[in-house]
Amino acid sequence: MNEHAIRRIVIVGGGTAGWMAAAPLAQRFEPAGEGRCEIVLVESPDIGSIGVGEATLPPIRAYNRTLGLDDADFVRRTQGSFKLGIEFRDWGRVGHRFFHGFGDFGPAIDNRPPWQHWLRLSHIVDGLPGYEDWSMATVMALRNRFAPPEGGAPSAANAYSFAYHFDAGLYAATLREYALQRGARRVEGTIVDVELRPDDGFVAAVRLADGRRVDGDLFIDCSGFRALLIGGAMQSPFEDWSALLPCNSALAVPSERVEPLTPYTTSTARAAGWQWRIPLQHRIGNGHVYCNQFIGDDEAAATLLAGLDGRALDTPRQLRFTTGRRRDGWVRNVVAIGLSGGFLEPLESTSIQLIMDAVGRLIELFPDRQFKPHLAAEFNRRMARQYESIRDFIALHYKLTDRRDGELWRYCAAMPIPDSLAHQIELFRSAARVAIFDPEGFAEPSWVSLFFGLGLRPESHDPFVDHIDAKALLQHFTRLRQAIAQTAAGMPDHADYILRHARAP
Ligand code: FAD
Repeated sequence: MNEHAIRRIVIVGGGTAGWMAAAPLAQRFEPAGEGRCEIVLVESPDIGSIGVGEATLPPIRAYNRTLGLDDADFVRRTQGSFKLGIEFRDWGRVGHRFFHGFGDFGPAIDNRPPWQHWLRLSHIVDGLPGYEDWSMATVMALRNRFAPPEGGAPSAANAYSFAYHFDAGLYAATLREYALQRGARRVEGTIVDVELRPDDGFVAAVRLADGRRVDGDLFIDCSGFRALLIGGAMQSPFEDWSALLPCNSALAVPSERVEPLTPYTTSTARAAGWQWRIPLQHRIGNGHVYCNQFIGDDEAAATLLAGLDGRALDTPRQLRFTTGRRRDGWVRNVVAIGLSGGFLEPLESTSIQLIMDAVGRLIELFPDRQFKPHLAAEFNRRMARQYESIRDFIALHYKLTDRRDGELWRYCAAMPIPDSLAHQIELFRSAARVAIFDPEGFAEPSWVSLFFGLGLRPESHDPFVDHIDAKALLQHFTRLRQAIAQTAAGMPDHADYILRHARAP
């Protein structure tokens, strides 16, 4: 037993981030007993959670598996559906659509990714079908089919992954129940003051409006945009990225479910932003993300409501944000997780991923009461790399589009971009290469989907694919395309799959 071991963790906030932090920590420190680290979560009855994070990325499956949550039970409890990727409408140009599917374009051919072979063929074969026809995730999604990938040898037919759409409130409730069952304690109250230790400026305790005091050794700031501890008490500066990601507002509204139940999120570009559509079992989640310098709130609401494909179930809820991140998410004994650590707008469903990764890193680098500085430094280094890489990935959507039909799009065409993104675009344009700055972030197939989808065609291809006979390669791709289409056609309809495996009560 480490005599300096952390004895109490205080989590400030009970939104998605708070409970996503509490659940694995409670699991880790279970069972209760001598020397156990206590987990206390403080949430305000008066300050609500944001509650709109409903689309995720595939690694959430590993997070759930680590907790021991059953896949079907989880989808049932959260009114969830399956997500094979994101359909982008009107992004590259009005009337055009493309798909960012989860997964690869099949196994490598002679050690080179299949998209490089496709690219070569596209330079020499007229009328070659689009690369999307070789992406299993895309073919399934656009036919509304779903089944989990089968194991066995890697093939084009199992080279895909999936994530979920879910009701954020039900997800937080699932994790809350999980954490409380494992001994975490929930304190209801509004924090009005933060007490610092005079000698080193570490947080000693938080004080609640009714006078109660909650002390601890480690404080996890999950207070959302308020950033009570990391911004307030620790004064970690906020890096404002709104010059690059100018959207600063959102309106969210649920609408009634319509058929078919699509196994993907849809993002439709609008005049001054974009609109999301997230299908759940009991409703569709919709939202309009926009920049209020370029469109008024009323017009943004009218655009949102006009773009629904079912009856609105409520009036739109307004949200404001500034894109960017805390320079340091871990300062002294405070670790920011969730919106308190930063926000990059939901275009690629990355916020919950950032929460999961921050929780994972905290557990990997778990401190004792000596708080050795290299632990925080490593956490901050990896979070910075991840935020910057996601920032570039999202900014790419705005930068590469050909749209010029609104002030937002004209602004984006002219805006300066970071060197890392300029490098990425020029590298792909001139040498058909992708630079992976964050090995834990979006992988090559995702960048390639975006580049192709937004209309960037490289001037060359990988020189090491030229030796394969083009005719034989074309035959191979034609057979592959047929096999993919056939496999997808044999899969159940997404709604039927849910009905059979995971229908909510
Ligand atoms: P919040 O939900 O704001 O929770 C803050 C908590 O802190 C609350 O419990 C509150 O009571 C508590 N609190 C605050 N102040 C005090 C106080 N003084 N005393 C006590 N308690 C306090 N993410 C995705 O991954 N996918 C998506 O599709 C997606 N869509 C989004 C769409 C929009 C428009 C926005 C804005 C965000 C979206 N996100 C999405 C992000 C996602 O919603 C958040 O990352 C996630 O909900 C985590 O929020 P949070 O828990 O950090 O903050």
